[in-house]
Amino acid sequence: MQGLFCKRCKSLLPPGSGKCRSCGAPVDSTSVSSQSCLFDAMGEAGPSAPPKTTEVEGAPYMPYEPRGCQMAIIEDIRNALNGGRHIVMESGTGTGKTIVSLAASLEHAKERGKKIVYLTRTISQSDQVMRELRSIGTIRQVSGIAVTGRNKSCPLYRGSPGFESLSPNVLSMMCDERKQKSTRGQAGGCRYFDRVKTELPAIEEYCKKEFPTSEALDRYCEKLGACPYEAKKALMRKMDVIAVPYVHILSKDIRVNLLANLNTAGDATGVVLIIDEAHNFIDSARGEESFEINSRLIDSAIDECNSMKNADVAPGIKMADFIGYFKNSVRAVANEKIGLGQREYVFDGDFIEERMMAKFGMGRGDFITALDIIAEIGEERSQYLMEKGEARLSELETLGHALQNWCSASSRRFVRSLKIDQDGEYLSAACIDPVEISVFLRSVPGSVHMSGTLQPLNQYARVLGLPETTRCRTYPSPFPPENRKVIYVGDVTTRQADMKADPGMQNRIERYIVNLCESVDKNTLVFFTSYNNMRMMRHYIEIHLSKDMYWEEARNLRKTMDALSQFRAGRNGVFFSVMGGSVAEGIDFPGDELCFAVIVGIPFPPPSPEMQAMSAMYDERYGAGKGWLYCSEVPAMRKMKQAIGRLIRTETDRGMAVILDSRTSRYAKQLDASLSEDPAGDSAKFFIRR
Ligand code: SF4
Repeated sequence: MQGLFCKRCKSLLPPGSGKCRSCGAPVDSTSVSSQSCLFDAMGEAGPSAPPKTTEVEGAPYMPYEPRGCQMAIIEDIRNALNGGRHIVMESGTGTGKTIVSLAASLEHAKERGKKIVYLTRTISQSDQVMRELRSIGTIRQVSGIAVTGRNKSCPLYRGSPGFESLSPNVLSMMCDERKQKSTRGQAGGCRYFDRVKTELPAIEEYCKKEFPTSEALDRYCEKLGACPYEAKKALMRKMDVIAVPYVHILSKDIRVNLLANLNTAGDATGVVLIIDEAHNFIDSARGEESFEINSRLIDSAIDECNSMKNADVAPGIKMADFIGYFKNSVRAVANEKIGLGQREYVFDGDFIEERMMAKFGMGRGDFITALDIIAEIGEERSQYLMEKGEARLSELETLGHALQNWCSASSRRFVRSLKIDQDGEYLSAACIDPVEISVFLRSVPGSVHMSGTLQPLNQYARVLGLPETTRCRTYPSPFPPENRKVIYVGDVTTRQADMKADPGMQNRIERYIVNLCESVDKNTLVFFTSYNNMRMMRHYIEIHLSKDMYWEEARNLRKTMDALSQFRAGRNGVFFSVMGGSVAEGIDFPGDELCFAVIVGIPFPPPSPEMQAMSAMYDERYGAGKGWLYCSEVPAMRKMKQAIGRLIRTETDRGMAVILDSRTSRYAKQLDASLSEDPAGDSAKFFIRR
């Protein structure tokens, strides 16, 4: 294919254009004519061959011939980091986010002796980091390690009964106990820990030579009889790149240990952060700070009190009585405040605390002291249990800390409520403003936040509390735009009020789904906005659709994955799923595994007290209307783009999406969607045209 290509980023230039659409470079006589950069990157052996590595002028850690806007991205990241700034970027599928972010960050970090902490949402994403590091290793000296928690890497306890349900805190305490015994040469230590020191040189050599995935490194260490978790911890400080799950930075306790292990003076100044799939990061940060107190925990703590010497939490007030009255107070609020058919009451004050203080004649200070005593006694009790060999934390410790957090959870950052589900009532403190991580990010001299669906970028930067100097950049996908088509219909919607007002709406949507699925002989994914909607329409679809059908099962990942692998093995089936569920994000469907998507409705988050509080907070902070935009429109658009993004994963993929919701007209530009009067006909034509 001959044509004009940008000299700077090697993108194909549309005829007559004044500047490059990818990197913005002006087009002049220096623009070159050459082979398409995509063919360059694939090499003669095609896409399945391992990528050829090469030295690239101007990007010393880029191991492949750059394509599309990759050089522009590298330059932008490099400039941001060199200037001590954060960069937030949306770059479409195929831009090679992992390799370009590593290439740019390594250039910055290696010169300054910094470590790169690469945050991934899933472990499989860290495998990709290791693969790219291996390629970089063919042209430059570089090292890296993928780290997971003890719950994935501990060979001593893995396989023992109840291991899966052990909390990281409990496992950490059990591990510490074993290590202390090993260090003191006592019986009951850990044989895997004992071998780490002697095997570490071999493990380091293996890591630096092979760039293993986290799982492969675990297997290698186990073969040597050494603990993978401890080996990784010891090797971190010798590595350039450390790939870890989000929680290693989002959890303050884990983060402090991580930074200490990196040998960067225990603070963030020697760290460059890369945050992959960043569209998930803010919700994960909120989730990290949110917590619940359920009746099972309260009952277990009361039982624990009764099984030991019942201490006083204040003169004359027994701990069991104090916790027992807390339980009664929760129940009383549930009875008083939650009416028939309701499931939630949002606290607008310290209702439970005041009730308890009045009952026991306590002031605020005495009340807080009582909670401190519960937590302290609980900690001692946990120690005792551990020494007895019981793999569990004291329930008193867990409850004591949760109550301390409950009392300090400010109403500006948390929505505190009492909820009821099938297991009874429970207290929920949902974080709406993840300040903790914002404070930390501001202490990092530079970070890279990237995703294929992050717009509007200033919303992300604002909500995460990044400084004003943060750079925001968007880069297009290098894949041919004609390989993707998105259409929507104008006569149905899943908006609840409209569905209620028009009894025929549901059936029109069901008929659309069936007709669309029948119109195309391709693997098809149908996305609903909720499990409820999927359940509602399932009956009609199962009767009228003649293809193989597979269904995502709520709260049953194994069954869903089994169904998914059968669907992927075929070529003319339909998989029914939910946007934002396990299938809509993070799973690649290359080639013919997926060609067609039907999106049933726009996935605006359902109204909830948390959503309302967050929306009011953003209105107040950023101006009227921003609450709705940030809390409803932006998440809905990101979910839809993620769903549509499943269609095109390689430069040869072709795919089409149909959105069954007239409200799409408001977002047509963002989604690059056009109105269709005959969606089934248009879909059939799109694939026949091939
Ligand atoms: Fe498990 Fe390693 Fe701790 Fe031993 S040292 S208990 S193998 S994590």
